[in-house]
Amino acid sequence: FFHNSNPSNSHNEITYLSSTLNHMSQQLAQQANLRERLIQDVSHELRTPLTALKASLAAIIDGVWMPTPERFALLMAEVTRFEKMVLDLERSMIQTQPTMRAKVPVNISNCLHLAIEHVKAIIEEKKIIFHVGILPVDQYVLTDADQLLQVFVNLLDNAYKYTLPHHSIEVKVEVTSRDIKTTIRDTGIGIPMKDLPYICERFYRVESSRDRKTGGTGLGLAIAKEIIIDSNGSLQIESQLGIGTIATVILPKVLSTFVSFS
Ligand code: ADP
Repeated sequence: FFHNSNPSNSHNEITYLSSTLNHMSQQLAQQANLRERLIQDVSHELRTPLTALKASLAAIIDGVWMPTPERFALLMAEVTRFEKMVLDLERSMIQTQPTMRAKVPVNISNCLHLAIEHVKAIIEEKKIIFHVGILPVDQYVLTDADQLLQVFVNLLDNAYKYTLPHHSIEVKVEVTSRDIKTTIRDTGIGIPMKDLPYICERFYRVESSRDRKTGGTGLGLAIAKEIIIDSNGSLQIESQLGIGTIATVILPKVLSTFVSFS
């Protein structure tokens, strides 16, 4: 290439090279911009729950709030939510794919129970009507238990974040001959049709002004979807603005004859 003896060819190549370099430097500048914006967004999102936590703790220390077990449960739920945000961010900054963890049969009902424990205090505090259907006994899916827990916590988190007091959240599990279908349905604010195709993309949030108040990262659904796809399942979000949202997780079930422990 550099030893080309034909002047017109070499001119073309230099033009090509310089336009490629131009394009590359433009892309790098765009990436740097994006990174800067991302860091600003992320630190803002992390500061919001911390400020709320600090205010609650100050109220307890100053004797404005009685330190009741319920209050501590609520603070704990806030800390767990904060921790989840950090985990989400960490995962998204460090890697582009869910970690290649070994997959083992995971009891779906146990995992859902744990996820519900994470969010129960906040749901109660928000006075949301919460209904959990009958959970199946001894049904397993092949995945990583921590990652599946993260999926359910992310979906439940969204269900209560975008649902107003006195509305409802319903969790249901259906088992077919091949799959286990978990649905989390809320009667919350819903998602506009135009945003629906993008909500599982990283950092995508519907109308940032509306979401700012809820202090999310726009990563919850993207991470949930990656984990579910990695476990050979599917995640579907259906929604109607002002009516509510249904998140459906379908995972292939492990035949119980293959499971040697509970
Ligand atoms: P976030 O951390 O912002 O909640 P997610 O990836 O979990 O990020 O969700 C992306 C966006 O999709 C949210 O910002 C919100 O606007 C919308 N969304 C997700 N779940 C729901 C829901 N159950 N009801 C209404 N809007 C939702």
